[in-house]
Amino acid sequence: MTFDYDLFVIGGGSGGVRAARVAAGTGARVALAEQSRYGGTCVIRGCVPKKLMVFASEFPTEMQTAQAYGWTVHAGGFDWPAFRNRMHADLDRLEGVYRNLLKDSGVETFDAHARLSDAHTVTLSTGESYTAKHILIAAGGAPIRPDMPGAEHGIVSDDIFNLEKLPRSILVVGGGYIACEFACILNGLGVAVTQYYRGAQILRGFDDEARGLVSEDMIASGIDVKLGTNVQNIEPSDGGYLVKPTHGEEKRFDQVFFATGRRPQTEGLGLEDIGVSLGRNGQIEVNEYSQTAVPSIYAIGDVTERVNLTPVAIREAMAFVETVFNGNLTPVDHDLIPTAIFTQPEIGTVGLSEEAARDIEPVEVYCTSFRAMKSAFAGGTARVLMKLVVSQATRRVMGCHIVAPGAGEMIQMAGIAVKMGATKEDFDRVCAVHPTMSEELVTMKTPVRAG
Ligand code: NDP
Repeated sequence: MTFDYDLFVIGGGSGGVRAARVAAGTGARVALAEQSRYGGTCVIRGCVPKKLMVFASEFPTEMQTAQAYGWTVHAGGFDWPAFRNRMHADLDRLEGVYRNLLKDSGVETFDAHARLSDAHTVTLSTGESYTAKHILIAAGGAPIRPDMPGAEHGIVSDDIFNLEKLPRSILVVGGGYIACEFACILNGLGVAVTQYYRGAQILRGFDDEARGLVSEDMIASGIDVKLGTNVQNIEPSDGGYLVKPTHGEEKRFDQVFFATGRRPQTEGLGLEDIGVSLGRNGQIEVNEYSQTAVPSIYAIGDVTERVNLTPVAIREAMAFVETVFNGNLTPVDHDLIPTAIFTQPEIGTVGLSEEAARDIEPVEVYCTSFRAMKSAFAGGTARVLMKLVVSQATRRVMGCHIVAPGAGEMIQMAGIAVKMGATKEDFDRVCAVHPTMSEELVTMKTPVRAG
């Protein structure tokens, strides 16, 4: 049978674009359909604009610090529309880069919604149908609003980058990556932030000591973090919203922001009709080669809900191309993925939390917490944390957790050592870089706990 293409990719985000480009580089005939903007969540409504907002929000603290170092500087007003417009101009530029990357690699693109008609056929919203030997679904995910009265009044992360004006007050609902990052960003931009999290401590699943410290710092920086609290009801009121919490007083906010998780975008793709299996949250079920229950159809990225991070989607794309187009069976390695949460201060983490490691085997914990030199000089009280969780049996570092300005940059480096299987003694053999915060990672002599 002859096909129109060797590969048809659905979705032009980080994973889809990488797979299309690299597959085309092997000489394959490749097409890609994207219904929205090229670059996907990461570039258009996620990591990239979020990080620009993190930078924007850090200036008031930087300026306070600068004063303590002798500079005459004052944070004047923050011009949100000017910043927002500049940010969108940059996103437009990046979208152009993505389009050009595809064009230059010889990938044919369709600005249309695509659905599967059978195991080898894609039908576009324009009415055209194309056949392909392989189909790759990289359709990503989307934010969800919880099922509660008045939830339709809240915004989600997609909306935050397009606000006409910054609210004076906001309620952030949720305690995950997005909730905590935006609570810090908006607080830094001068918005009065309240955060409701239904559990006992924000950032569930991360190391307890690390998330405890971030939570303390968030509260110290002025965020009103209400734990064990959820929204019961939201009603429009006086140009804003009156929120009734599960306990405590009703309060009015200019805006309510739901950061209550994301869902794979699998609706409307025609997947069940052709035998692709979906999990409970709508995620596409795949094997270690990202292959679905239908052998010609593969899926990568957030649509599979394995580890929802851009660099992971990109690695899944590379492994897919290696397997399918280079004939080299390459399973995706999801072990020991370093990650950062861009709260203020940041968390950088790789491997197991102390709690998860203890559940597996006896460990030694090396941990130190101290005031960082730069902010301490300026009178700041925020602490940083450097922590290693070490296997008693093998001495391998099972987890490394950093809470500090720049922790994202630091954990990328520590991640190499942990991925290589470094032991505590390997860390100790490395000479300290002085004076830095991360030098503590190689100078901690005595465990603070064992067991
Ligand atoms: P998360 O799954 O991290 O967090 C969702 C939060 O919402 C949790 O605190 C959850 O509570 C809470 N929640 C869920 N349902 C409800 C409800 N009905 N009522 C109240 N609270 C609720 O999702 P995010 O949306 O924050 O992020 C999605 C993913 O995006 C992340 O897992 C991450 O993979 C990725 N991401 C990565 C970033 C990075 O690398 N820096 C940045 C942003 C996103 P509970 O804990 O009780 O379940």
